[in-house]
Amino acid sequence: MQNTATPTHCPYCALQCGMNLTPAPDGTVELSERADFPVNRGALCGKGRTAPAVLSSRVRLTSPLVRSEGTLVPASWEEALDRIAEGLRRTRTEHGPDACGVFGGGGLTNEKAYTLGKFARVVLGTSQIDYNGRFCMSSAAAAGMKAFGLDRGLPFPLEDIPKTGCVILVGSNLAETMPPSLRFFNELRENGGTLIVIDPRRTKTAEQADLHLAPRPGTDLALALGLLHLVVAEGRTDEEYIRERTTGWEAARAEALAHWPEYVERITGVSVPELRETVRMFCEPESAMVLTARGPEQQSKGTDTVGAWINLCLATGRAGRPLSGYGCLTGQGNGQGGREHGQKADQLPGYRKLTDPEARRHVAEVWGVDPDSLPGPGRSAYELLDALGTDIRALLLMGSNPVVSAPRAAHVEDRIKSLDFLAVCDVVLSETAALADVVLPVTQWAEETGTTTNLEGRVLLRRKAITPPDGIRSDLEVMHELADRLGVDKGFPTDPEEVFEELRRASAGGPADYSGITYRRLAEENGVFWPCPTEEPAEEPTHPGTPRLFHDRFATEDGRARFVPVAHRATAEEPDDEYPVLLTTGRVVSQYQSGAQTRRVDELNAAAPGPFVELHPRLAARLGAAEGDPVAVVSRRGRAVAPARITSAIRPDTVFMPFHWPGEGRANTLTNPALDPTSRMPEFKVCAVRVEAVQG
Ligand code: SF4
Repeated sequence: MQNTATPTHCPYCALQCGMNLTPAPDGTVELSERADFPVNRGALCGKGRTAPAVLSSRVRLTSPLVRSEGTLVPASWEEALDRIAEGLRRTRTEHGPDACGVFGGGGLTNEKAYTLGKFARVVLGTSQIDYNGRFCMSSAAAAGMKAFGLDRGLPFPLEDIPKTGCVILVGSNLAETMPPSLRFFNELRENGGTLIVIDPRRTKTAEQADLHLAPRPGTDLALALGLLHLVVAEGRTDEEYIRERTTGWEAARAEALAHWPEYVERITGVSVPELRETVRMFCEPESAMVLTARGPEQQSKGTDTVGAWINLCLATGRAGRPLSGYGCLTGQGNGQGGREHGQKADQLPGYRKLTDPEARRHVAEVWGVDPDSLPGPGRSAYELLDALGTDIRALLLMGSNPVVSAPRAAHVEDRIKSLDFLAVCDVVLSETAALADVVLPVTQWAEETGTTTNLEGRVLLRRKAITPPDGIRSDLEVMHELADRLGVDKGFPTDPEEVFEELRRASAGGPADYSGITYRRLAEENGVFWPCPTEEPAEEPTHPGTPRLFHDRFATEDGRARFVPVAHRATAEEPDDEYPVLLTTGRVVSQYQSGAQTRRVDELNAAAPGPFVELHPRLAARLGAAEGDPVAVVSRRGRAVAPARITSAIRPDTVFMPFHWPGEGRANTLTNPALDPTSRMPEFKVCAVRVEAVQG
């Protein structure tokens, strides 16, 4: 490896900030600013800046581990791979292919996600594959598909945000989850635009807003309906746009009119004057956007909730027009690409549907298999985890840590423990890997080349910048070796570019068409937005990519966006005498998701050493709890204990816990796996709890 700077991207969130990495003589890597990447222009948050620390072998697994007499002990690669192949083969023989489960991650590159989906369906013949991205943005994806006929997180580049007139940010704390993105919102305000933040907490993001609405958790759907009611009542609809570019308005309008402002105020706690001011700020400028994140999406009615916000955009003519639109701020590094290429239970590469005969034929031809041999759709992520140890007897898990990140986590942990066989590929011994029969140490971001697709739909090239420690192999090598051992000796290359070339063909003609994207283009063009189709021959494709979607037409059959009529309904668990408080969960700036990587970084641990329970002074006073006192949060699923953090920035009826930690303070011990009927997204964002003082 040369000692020159390699331009690449952060391993963590969907912003996929650019950075330069240079190998240092002592075997470490030096990180430097990469100002040419337009998304972050050199800026990084603390997670990205310290990411090289996770490359150090001090915190890494550097040898395969196999369980022997109850303990994980080092083993050779041959022994470990043989054990996994035998575990999967035996399960398949004794219980059938669907007894083998595969669970992926939103951090896997496109090449890995693609290969994992192919491995599940071609090598194992199982329908039981899904990934943790289901927990991230699937409700927004489902709502986008219903309304626009296509799901791409943002249908426009981030650089459009400063030029619009108003942004409503629903349930997103960008100041902590992706700090470099705040620049776009600061520029928006400098340009005279306004920012409205909707969040039950006065977060660091909300503090920077022109208007902050703090609805009761789980009522974003009612809030959007109340706003739409006022839009109609105040004559602010764009009738020409509705007529020419949409269908279904009358039914959506009727639902909105049933949600009069005073009723919405009672449901949400947001006052009628605040609702009116929001409508004024959103409707007066020529252009405006609504951006949602996990707040409205991680609900048992997440798809309808996002649908209500999309309806607001459509009724006001703010979708598919320059500087206007609805977008989802995808969370995980490759949450977007991960769902486009086949590790989601119901999808084939190119965002094709597994139930579509033509899609099956196309992909089967690329894979060289009989279309009829491809299994149908499988269970969604939580349902798959819930079936472990019963219908699903063996699990191959890659790039995920559900013991910390899944809802009702103690139950999920029990299900994982009840498996006949568990194999985990990871870079560290995560809480889930610690339960495995075999653990494989794999390469990570800076040690391998691959593509990711950021929240804008921009496909990026993450380049290899450093040689991995001895004893580590890539996920692609693992799947190649396992396929070979399970009788499939071709079709699983270990070279990422070779995989990408196949992915291009598999995606060609699909909704997420990558066929016009090549590694060469990605290296030269700083990313290419999909869809990017090409005509054969495809060696030198010229399609410019599609930064902005829907300006001419939506991706529906008739080219019109569809209003979807939605109505307010309660959360799966409303407060009662036994559980009178609402819990909402989220992230802090110095940790990432389950913390498997960031909890290994000293600087991040110093900044965010452990969980806490954020509660209002009035609630704290009722409990007799002072700042830092341990408090217990109890739901129908379990009990978590963490120090109190008392702040008037949260509603008195709500407590907040970050979800990055295992053990006694694990927030997901409490969360509710109630699923959205369409997206199968669990209701992480709201459940009923009681809060108790803990006697010292
Ligand atoms: Fe990495 Fe996201 Fe931080 Fe950027 S904002 S440095 S992509 S974690």
